[in-house]
Amino acid sequence: MTTSPHTWAAAAGHVAAGPPGRPDALAAAGPEQRYRIGTGARPRPPGRAAARPAQQRRCPARTGAIDEQTWRRAIAAIEAADEVALACHVSPDGDALGSMLALGLALRAAGRRVVASFGDRDFAVPRLLRFLPGQDLLVEPARYPAAPGLMITFDVATVERLGMLEDSARNAGELLVVDHHASNDTASGFGTLRLVDPTAAATAVLAEELIARLGLPVDEQIATCLYTGLVTDTGSFRYGVTPAVHDMAGRLVATGLATDEITRELWEGNPFGYLKVLATALERATLEPLAAEAHGLVWTYVTREDRAAVALPYEEVEGIIDVVRQAGEADVAVVLKQDDDGLWQVSARSKGAIDVGRACTALGGGGHPRAAGFTSHLPPDDTLALLRPLLTRM
Ligand code: 5GP
Ligand code: MN
Repeated sequence: MTTSPHTWAAAAGHVAAGPPGRPDALAAAGPEQRYRIGTGARPRPPGRAAARPAQQRRCPARTGAIDEQTWRRAIAAIEAADEVALACHVSPDGDALGSMLALGLALRAAGRRVVASFGDRDFAVPRLLRFLPGQDLLVEPARYPAAPGLMITFDVATVERLGMLEDSARNAGELLVVDHHASNDTASGFGTLRLVDPTAAATAVLAEELIARLGLPVDEQIATCLYTGLVTDTGSFRYGVTPAVHDMAGRLVATGLATDEITRELWEGNPFGYLKVLATALERATLEPLAAEAHGLVWTYVTREDRAAVALPYEEVEGIIDVVRQAGEADVAVVLKQDDDGLWQVSARSKGAIDVGRACTALGGGGHPRAAGFTSHLPPDDTLALLRPLLTRM
C-alpha cells in the first residue's frame, strides 16, 4: 500500500521552488484541469482551450483570509529557526494532533530539529489517536523548551487551550498560530504571526498548505496525519464539504495511505463499556422541541459513576454527541461529560440554525458556529439553565 512520496506542491496547487504562494501557482496542473467542473465531469475535447482560466474554475480550499505577506513571513520564520517547537491544544483531537505531527514529520524529513507536545497535566496520547505516525516527536510538557525561538500552535483558539505550554508560548521569540476557529479572531487573538482561516474545514487544510509552501513532500505517514485531521473535523466528509475538501482527500489517498485502517482506528475500536455508557446516556436523553428558538434541543449527560461502572476512561465518551445529534427534531445537541476531576465538559452541536459557538464562548469556552464546547462547574440542570437562553439564531 505504499507509493513513493510525490512532490506535493504541484498537486496541492502551489509551486515548490521559486516564490512560494504566487497567485498563478493555482494554475498548476491538477486533475481539475482535465474535467469541466459542474458539467458532469466530461473530458474537454483535445486541443480546445478551457472556457475559463483554471484559476477561476478551481474551488479553493479556503476563501483566503490569510494574506500572502503573512504566509511569506511564516515560511521565512520556519526556514530561519534552529529548532521548531510545535504544540496543539490540550486533550488533542485528530485535527490538532494530526496537523501538528504532519508538519513535524515533514520538517524532520528535511533534516530540521523539531519538538512537539501538548499541555495536559497527565500527558498521554488519546487511545483513539495512538495509530498516528510521528509520535516519537512528542515530549512531555516538562521537557518542552521554556522559551522557544519559534513556536507553532495547531488548532489552538485561545492561549489557555495550551494548558501547561502557555508559558512557553508567552516566552517564544516568534509565535505562529495555525488555526481555523472562528472564535480565534484577530482582535483578541494571540501570536506574533497568524495563519488563521475560519473558512478552512480543518486546521489540517492549513497544515497541508504550509507544508506545500515550504516545498516539502508529503509521504504516506504525513498524509495519514493530515487525513485524520480532515476526516475527523468534517465528520467523515459530512460537514463543511467543498470540492476542495475532496480534492485534498484525493491527494492524500493517492499517497497510498490505508483509509480502511484509519476508519477502524477512529470509529470501530471502542471498548465494549462504551456501548453500555452510550445506552445509559441515550436512556436519559431529553428532547425540548420549544428550546433554541423552537428549533429544538436534545441533551443528555454522562457521570463519572456511569464510566466507573464499566471502567471507561473519560476520553472514550467523546463520540456520544455524534449519536445524540441524530435526533431530527432538534437543531441543537448537547452532551455534558463529567471528567475525573468532577468538572463537566460540555459538547454542543448545531445543524445550522443556532450558533452554538457564540453560546459556548459566552460561557468561557469556544469553537465553531456548529461545533463548540465549554467547561462547567455546575451540575447538568444548572448548566442547561445557563445555556438555554444563549441558544439563538446564527
Ligand atoms: P468537542 O465538543 O469536540 O470537545 O469540541 C468542539 C469544538 O469546540 C472544538 O473545535 C473545540 O476546539 C471547541 N471546544 C471545546 N471545548 C472547548 C473549551 O473549553 N474551550 C474552547 N476555547 N474551545 C472548546
Ligand atoms: Mn480543528
